[in-house]
Amino acid sequence: MARFRFCPNCGVTLSLDEQPQVCGGCGAEHYEHSYPCAGALLVKNGQLLLVRRGIEPYKGCWDIPGGFLEAGEHPEDGAVREVEEETGLKVRLRGFFGAYIDTYGQGGDYTLNLFYLAEPIGGEPRPASDAQELAWFPPDGLPEPLAFSHIRQVLEDWRASQSPTMRSVESHRR
Ligand SMILES: [Zn+2]
Repeated sequence: MARFRFCPNCGVTLSLDEQPQVCGGCGAEHYEHSYPCAGALLVKNGQLLLVRRGIEPYKGCWDIPGGFLEAGEHPEDGAVREVEEETGLKVRLRGFFGAYIDTYGQGGDYTLNLFYLAEPIGGEPRPASDAQELAWFPPDGLPEPLAFSHIRQVLEDWRASQSPTMRSVESHRR
């Protein structure tokens, strides 16, 4: 997975037990890392948009729209791009929500998942790309089953942020 069987520089066989993997051929040091992903908590009228995954891992489970960043892509741009690809909606980010570590399914590579709060500004909702269904959910009516294990934590944190105390703080800002 994230560890190389052969050196990508010179092709010499590497030990899978070392971290970093040091190549006996060219001396290169290969570090394992987490893959960066970005997604958006898209909220309208107090409800959160979730997507049902149409692909493995977690096919058929509910997920937050998002995905892997492209090389050199800023996570804000990646979150906006992934939401539009999966839901057809154009969004404006309202702020950073949090960072969560997970793996891409059981035994998969580590992922670093960055989430933003967002609001829709256009487009027509329709599931596409990795998503097979879209739906809006209230904080106390979130669906099961959920995808990746960090999704449950993100949703719990989002629900806590929607408590009446927090809402009144938000309304003071308007
Ligand atoms: Zn090498």
